[in-house]
Amino acid sequence: MIVYVQTDQRTQMKDITDKVKENLKSLGEKNGLVHIFSMHTTAAVTINENADPDVAGDILRATERLVPFEAGYRHMEGNSAAHIKTSLFGQSETVVLKDGRLVLGTWQGIYFCEFDGPRSRKVHVKVIPDKL
Ligand code: ZN
Repeated sequence: MIVYVQTDQRTQMKDITDKVKENLKSLGEKNGLVHIFSMHTTAAVTINENADPDVAGDILRATERLVPFEAGYRHMEGNSAAHIKTSLFGQSETVVLKDGRLVLGTWQGIYFCEFDGPRSRKVHVKVIPDKL
């Protein structure tokens, strides 16, 4: 299934945990693996703390220091920083589904990471059931 994400900033970490959960209900699978895949070259998926919003902000600010927007890149589109950040974070995460619930730690949330927004984005969510 496709989960749609609308971002509203150039770089942004958007908590999509509830959105993923809602979409999983409609599938009816109870046990297996959930694969969450960003279908973009300038946006990623990661899992990190969703209790204190400063954590996501700190991650974005630290990432900006590591990979600044302007650094003499050659890519004509002008968004090389977004491509690099995407490869550093990765396009996907896999979470265990047990008895219909995502197995996440107390402070863990699934984040869609926008690095070249704002844009309309798509995340593909696939359940691989325990019993095929
Ligand atoms: Zn590009």
